[in-house]
Formats: sequence, C-alpha cells, structure tokens
Amino acid sequence: MNEMTRLAAQPDYSEAARKALARAPALFIDGRWIDSTHGRTLPVYDPSTGKEIAAVVDASDADVDRAVAAARRAFDDGRWSGLPPYQRERLMERLAALLEEHTPELAELESIDNGKPRVASQGYDLPRSVQTLRYMAGWATKIAGEHVEPAGMPVGSVHAYVRREPVGVCAQIVPWNFPLMMAVQKIAPALAAGCTAVLKPAEQTSLTALRLGDLVAEAGIPDGVVNIVTGLGETAGDRLVRHPDVDKVAFTGSTEVGKLINRNATETLKRVTLELGGKSPVIVLPDVDVQRTAAGAARSIFANSGQVCIAGSRLFAHKDVFDALLEAVAANAAQWKVGPSLAPDTMMGPLVSSEQHARVLGYIEKGRKEGASVLCGGDAPGGDGYFVNPTVLVDVRPDMAVVREEIFGPVLAAQRYEDLDEVAKAANDTSYGLAASIWTRDVSAMHKLAAKLKAGMVWGNCPSAADVALPFGGYKQSGFGREQGRYGIEAYTELKTVAIAL
Ligand code: NAD
Repeated sequence: MNEMTRLAAQPDYSEAARKALARAPALFIDGRWIDSTHGRTLPVYDPSTGKEIAAVVDASDADVDRAVAAARRAFDDGRWSGLPPYQRERLMERLAALLEEHTPELAELESIDNGKPRVASQGYDLPRSVQTLRYMAGWATKIAGEHVEPAGMPVGSVHAYVRREPVGVCAQIVPWNFPLMMAVQKIAPALAAGCTAVLKPAEQTSLTALRLGDLVAEAGIPDGVVNIVTGLGETAGDRLVRHPDVDKVAFTGSTEVGKLINRNATETLKRVTLELGGKSPVIVLPDVDVQRTAAGAARSIFANSGQVCIAGSRLFAHKDVFDALLEAVAANAAQWKVGPSLAPDTMMGPLVSSEQHARVLGYIEKGRKEGASVLCGGDAPGGDGYFVNPTVLVDVRPDMAVVREEIFGPVLAAQRYEDLDEVAKAANDTSYGLAASIWTRDVSAMHKLAAKLKAGMVWGNCPSAADVALPFGGYKQSGFGREQGRYGIEAYTELKTVAIAL
C-alpha cells in the first residue's frame, strides 16, 4: 500500500453508538451520574476519521476527591467487603452477563473510540472482559488465609492464623490500548477481594468505561463500590495517586508514567502494582515451519496496530532461516488490511491518536536515518485517520532507537543471530522484561532458552498465551506485581497475623 491507496470510508455509526456519543459528560460517583464541579470537558476523536465525536469530563481535584470519598465510605461501612462472598460473586456474574448481553454495542463503541477493528473488539476485547469478570467472581468465595503453627512456642499454646483482608480503596489507572478490557482487569480482582475502586480510564478512550458505569449500577453492585472518573493523567490521575484516602494504586501504562506514579504514591506508602511497557523478543530457531512462524511473528507485532505492551517488536531469526522468514513476514504483512475500524474487512485499524501517529512515523524515520532498511511498509496510507502501514525494518543494530525503545506501533525490527547463547544475551539487552516468544520444534532448546530470558512471560510456538488464570506482569522496567490468576487477586489483599495465647 502507498500514499495513493484510498482507504474505505468509516461506515455510519449505529443508533446505539450515536446515543452513547451524545450523552452529557458526567462522572459515575456513588452509584449515580453527576456533573463536574468545574464543567470542563475533553474532546473525543474517532481515530479512523480524525473527527471530534463526543466529549467527556475533564475531572477537577474536587471531582476526584468526591469519588475517593464515595469509595472510602463504601469500603469503611462494609457494604461490599461485609457481604457474603457468594453474594459478591453473584453480583459480579450479573455484571459479566450484562457485558455479554451488550457486546455488539460495547464492541462498536470501543472500535469507534480506539480505532481497533470491530472484529477484534467483538471477538477478543469483549469476550476477554466477560471471562475475566467470571473468573475473578469465582475467587470471591475462595480467598483464604491459613493456620500456622508458631516455631518457637510450645505446640498448642498459641493459636496463630493469617487472614487475607481486602486492601481497601483502590485507584486504578488504565491506558488506551484495550480500554474496556483493562478497566475490567482492574476492577474484577478488586471487587472479588472486597475492595472498592476509583477507575480512571485514559483520556483518549473513556467511552466504554462510562458505559461500564451504567452496567455496574444495573447489576446492583452497591453505590460507591465502583466509581469512574474521566480526565487527564497529570491532573485527575495524579490527584488519585497522591490521595491520602487511597490505599492501593494499580496502574497500567508507560514505564515513564509508572515511575512517576511509584514516586508519588510513596508519600503515604500506598501499595502499588505496575504493568508497564515492553520491547519483547521473538526468537526463531533454525528448525521452524517458516510460514507458520512468520504468521505468528506478524500477529505478535501487527495485532491492535502494534499498540500492545507484549508486542513482539524485536525479531531474532537464526541466520539459516532469516531470509526465508523475513520474506514470509513481509508477505504476511501485506495481508493485514489497513482500514477504518468499523469496515468489516479491516484487520488493522488506525493508531489511537494523532500524537501516536506522529510518534510512530517519527520512529520509522529515525530508524531510516540511523541506517535501517524498510523491508515493507514504513509509510502512512493517507486519509484523515491515523493510519500506519505494517512495517518491517531490517539492517538494524542493537544501539538504534527502533531496537531499544518501545514504539507502540506496527513496527518490527528484525535481527540475525548465529548461536543460542548469543541470542539470549541480545534478547535480554533491554531495560524492559515483559514477554518473549520462542519458536522451535526442539523442546530441550525451548526450555533452556526460556530459563535464560529475563521476562515475566515466555511463550513457546505462539505469539502470546496471556490468560486470566496465568500471572501477567514484567521483570525489570516492565513493572512489578502480577495481575491475573491467584497472584492477581492476592495483590488486592493485606495479610494480617493473629496470634492468641491459649
Ligand atoms: P500513559 O502512561 O501515558 O497513560 C496511562 C494512564 O496513565 C492514562 O490513564 C493516563 O491518563 C494516566 N496518567 C498519565 N500521567 C499520569 C500521572 N502523572 N499520574 C497519574 N496518572 C497518569 O500510557 P499510554 O500511552 O496511555 O499507554 C501506553 C503504554 O502502556 C505503553 O507503554 C504500554 O506498553 C503500556 N501498557 C502496558 C501494559 C501491561 O500490562 N504491562 C498493558 C497495556 C499498555
């Protein structure tokens, strides 16, 4: 595709989407929709067209304070943590059923707001959100402490046990790449553990989080348990992070902001979990099925237009297979049809914003200037939306910005290697440590290499196998703490040791 290729027009929005876009900007606090104290709003754009389509509240400090106060009251009076766990489970399941029932509407809204193809929001983001709620609902009845026999006291003289209690009021700040899914991944474990939450969606993509507020109320989750505040990171987000009545901050976003949040949350020693950026390696051994591996490598970087924290953005292919593999990856890239989010045949939508568009094209340009060759893509297909063609860069060196920095776009940097020890070192030569994938039929080589990689998640012979039951999170500057699975729910609890002399 080149500058002259005409993209299809964004199809008309449905009646339900138009209604959601026309709603008056408001905040979901204490179970109802309320106006902002200062009435300021932020524009919402459709990234497929660049047109302004709606407005959301740009929350003030006073708005954030109201939301935190509602969450604090709801936590302290036990209206949620004091419910029988089975009832919490049932209410979460009701919310899951409502999300499922509203899937077409929410998927369309997500695609309009974020730019991702409707086939992806409907086939992935929504089902994953429903699954996460159901999975975490199941934990509500299974969180348990333990009885421990003290080591230095006569047996039977002290009854000691460890309780797991909800951590309290949680500030949950999410990015724009999987807006609803990230919001649900945050609130679900908090709800299951008995916490209350103030959720702040990304300023670029707040629409589905706001619809989630409607469904939280409809499900019958008590007022104040989930509060949703839209606004900017440096104002509303920052206020939340520093708020003395917040007990825990759960953040997903860039490493840069993660570090800032970690510092700002320190004043009151809040519990902090951080899911940050990545520059994940895709390591291909010489014995692979080239076509299948190429399709996997392409999916790893082109899905969601590369705006994925676990995107496989650094390809390391063994010299014996490099040329054939790269030829196949480029051929595969051509099949990722770029187009507006609601067009039925679109496989790759636009990037989320004009800033992101300029940033990604800037990286490609920088790569070129530093000596990289563009094997395919490298340009934007034109039109008013924020589109970038799937791009593969070769002739890259480890010191180049396109190899070292997270681009967060559909840009793959491919390198050649000769032996396995060398590739593990090269793959670990990054400040990030989120994910990695290894492609080989050699089971022994797979396990040996998996052990050497400094990454929170290693996948074999697939682009990713993220699952709600499996811990998700990173080494090094990709964050700390884990979401999902048992670890994900335990991150919303505090341990209390009770020891009673008998
Ligand atoms: P971002 O860090 O700019 O923003 C994320 C969120 O933080 C937004 O809601 C924003 O409003 C808020 N924020 C910004 N500044 C803040 C501040 N000073 N205080 C409090 N909140 C603040 O990230 P982004 O550009 O929206 O998202 C892309 C990044 O997210 C990428 O780096 C990507 O790798 C990362 N990400 C990580 C994961 C993961 O699970 N590890 C998942 C998705 C995205």
